[in-house]
Amino acid sequence: MLGRERGRLAVALGLGALLPALLALGANLPLYEQLWRNLPGLRDTRVPERLLPVACLCLAGLAAFALARLPSSAALAALALVAVDLRAGVELFHPTATDPGNRAYAARPHDVPLLELPIFLPDRQEGSVYQYYAIGAPGPREERADCGFVYYGRHFRSDDGQLPAVFGPLLQPYDGMSILTLPCDRGTWGVGLVASGRDPALRALVDRDVWDAVLGAFPLAAHWGQGEPITDVQVMAKIEDRQRHLVIDGRPVATGVVAVGDAWACTNPSVGRGITIGLLHAVALRDLLREVPTADEIGVVRGWHELTMERVAPLVEDTLAFDRHRLAQIDAQIAGHSYETDDPAWALGLALAASASRDRNQFRHYLDVVSLNARGVDVLARPGVIDKTLELGAPAPLPGPSRAEVLELVATATYAPHHE
Ligand SMILES: Cc1cc2nc3c(=O)[nH]c(=O)nc-3n(C[C@H](O)[C@H](O)[C@H](O)COP(=O)(O)OP(=O)(O)OC[C@H]3O[C@@H](n4cnc5c(N)ncnc54)[C@H](O)[C@@H]3O)c2cc1C
Repeated sequence: MLGRERGRLAVALGLGALLPALLALGANLPLYEQLWRNLPGLRDTRVPERLLPVACLCLAGLAAFALARLPSSAALAALALVAVDLRAGVELFHPTATDPGNRAYAARPHDVPLLELPIFLPDRQEGSVYQYYAIGAPGPREERADCGFVYYGRHFRSDDGQLPAVFGPLLQPYDGMSILTLPCDRGTWGVGLVASGRDPALRALVDRDVWDAVLGAFPLAAHWGQGEPITDVQVMAKIEDRQRHLVIDGRPVATGVVAVGDAWACTNPSVGRGITIGLLHAVALRDLLREVPTADEIGVVRGWHELTMERVAPLVEDTLAFDRHRLAQIDAQIAGHSYETDDPAWALGLALAASASRDRNQFRHYLDVVSLNARGVDVLARPGVIDKTLELGAPAPLPGPSRAEVLELVATATYAPHHE
């Protein structure tokens, strides 16, 4: 029966080899986009080259048919040639990695010959991945770095729905560490003791008793630890500052997708700017889509990149600059000296914050910066602001224990009798 059907089967196998091979050309095939949009199942492959295994299987079937028709000596000789080819390392295929930046390519051993078959990582939501394969572009670029801070946090609630009184800024800088007090809803709140990731001495803060003892020593924040605890100490470390670029050297590397908010850039959350930056970014997207139709896929990606760089990137850069200075200052304080920097923005920012508690107009200017209504550099450029900042901005450290006293507390609480 197989003999009778051989002709039809060969035709089916031929088509099975030809059609996937053509479709695997992706956007290089005329009318491919219309097929991709309308042919059920085609887009499920995500990457057009994924159809190539089907073609390979059909080709193998055709080869088997051909071998069966050859005299057995010729068939054996053909099989021997294939074996020699495979074993002797003669390369019939020359892998051409169109995307050297791709993680899957980077991870594969370089001495393994590879038929050009991009590997798609199903755990990644890269819906338009096929397009950057089709245009041979590099993948999206991500810049990631450990922000360098470690949070030792706990959550509390009150009996009566009230929140602790606010006696200082929500983010309080001290000698060698910071304290973050975060009012939440329904009478709950969070407290974070924020340390440098390079500070092994404060890793003992993971212990509840050590944590309580240290918080209790800071008069502006101690009462934030006096509610009913909802959690034990929770550690948040290895927090990444990350930015994702979908336009590289002016060239979009993915279309049909825009990265907004944290998906575009996220930073250490100490200064509480992420939601506002995300909202400003969403407003920018609204503005862009009023101007550029979504059908203009390249225009949307390019326009989005430009608008992001213009409106939102400076805010993220300011956040990163503040964070990096503060981390460097903490590290300097741990080393026992004061922090020096050539960057006047750091000292001016601190002075603006200090002047805010001494003058109501300065307070308004400062609020503009922390609410992201304006950048610090623009606020300081307003008439008279810089003079007032320099006049009133002498730093006034918040009351609290020194680094040495905190270390003393840590040591005492760590070796208290109940730990034995
Ligand atoms: C500990 C901490 C404290 C912070 N404190 C502050 C603060 O006090 N003030 C402030 O302004 N900012 C703060 N931030 C930052 C702020 O939370 C973020 O900047 C903000 O939430 C980003 O909003 P977003 O919509 O871009 O992303 P997200 O809020 O992360 O929203 C993304 C959503 O997408 C969902 N999602 C992910 N993948 C998929 C998928 N494949 N399919 C469907 N859904 C998916 C996620 O579940 C999530 O709900 C803090 C961040 C952290 C981590």
